[in-house]
Amino acid sequence: MPGFLRRRWQLAQIKRLVALAYGHVPAYRTLWRATGIEPERIRTFFDFATLPVTDKQFFRKHREEEIVHDSFSPGGYYFMETSGSTGEPFRFPRSTSHYLQRRFRHAKAFDFGMLRFLFWRGFSRHEIFDMKLAEIRINPRRGAPYCLYLPTADMRNDPAGVLRALREFEPDVLNSRPTVLVELARLAERLPREERPRLRFVLSHGEELMPSQREYIRDVFGCDMHEFYGLTEVGAIGGDCEVHHGLHLFEETCFVEVVDAEGRPLPAGEFGRVVVTHFYNHALPFIRYDTGDSGVILDEPCPCGLRARRLIVRGRLGGFFTIGGKRFNYSEFQMILSGFSTIVLRYQFAKVSKEAVELRIIPAPAYSAEEALRLRQAFRDTLGIEPVVKVVDNIPYTDGGKTRFIVDETAR
Ligand SMILES: [Zn+2]
Repeated sequence: MPGFLRRRWQLAQIKRLVALAYGHVPAYRTLWRATGIEPERIRTFFDFATLPVTDKQFFRKHREEEIVHDSFSPGGYYFMETSGSTGEPFRFPRSTSHYLQRRFRHAKAFDFGMLRFLFWRGFSRHEIFDMKLAEIRINPRRGAPYCLYLPTADMRNDPAGVLRALREFEPDVLNSRPTVLVELARLAERLPREERPRLRFVLSHGEELMPSQREYIRDVFGCDMHEFYGLTEVGAIGGDCEVHHGLHLFEETCFVEVVDAEGRPLPAGEFGRVVVTHFYNHALPFIRYDTGDSGVILDEPCPCGLRARRLIVRGRLGGFFTIGGKRFNYSEFQMILSGFSTIVLRYQFAKVSKEAVELRIIPAPAYSAEEALRLRQAFRDTLGIEPVVKVVDNIPYTDGGKTRFIVDETAR
């Protein structure tokens, strides 16, 4: 979609959504009234940017009836829950008569982001609906004929069984979190190539995918790998193309802004908080909703030819550590580590005493002791701390298949 059409479409959706939220969702009405905002006055993107940024904490403060569209009947929505990286649960309503689910009823197992991705890759509708999908996820949905859902718990209890099931089902697409996919690839690597599951694509979501992880998974399964970015609250926001530089935004279903600390939009190319407005959850529209991630929007054309803008996400801002009396944000660790992503498949920082932090690493094939030394030096030079770098064979992950990147073991 050309830029001017995209902007026109998004502005129309935004106006519609603002009127709906003001008229029907008490939490928004109270918030906007308190700041003197009238929905009729929201006519441009500039006006829209005057609306306060919302977040999980804002909605958590309200009673459930204040965050549900007041004319929805109880059958019109259901509650979903996300724990997020902060560990605070958040319950929010989602419309049952999802516009996209109605339009793509026959493809209910594929979410819209994935469908769009496959269209992007040049597959026809016909081919896509013939594809088989396997997902490893915390709560397996009931299997549709073309879908195989495996619980994350199986990865722990019967990893060989997971590989066997995938091999028998022969999915075209495998979708899971990077942590789970890396663990699966580590198992599959021990098998001769012809005994590994044959896949056309691997898709990842729910965690940042490191370049080393992409390379490794691609090598083990001999197929390309794509990353999706999204939130439980709003679904997929973007996915990467074969160029693998930034995630093309799903501009038709959401409007993504990168903003400063005061919620003012930043121009493309500048780094800030990622805020999203999603067009289709009418039970509770998420408007200028803080994703908790930071990132940068790329506006220049992508070599792949897609016109959708791209977003580079730089992980969660949250998570603090106090070491030797100094306070560190996890993002500072992550920043250093991103320079070493070719040597690390998975990692975890553990505070093991008041003064000491351990960096546990499952190494990528390119790992060497010299590189580990350089890594340690980078920490010393940048932050003044020297983590003990420890190569391990196992880093536990959550039931949902996510790595806990920082753990405080002194708190026990
Ligand atoms: Zn592209």
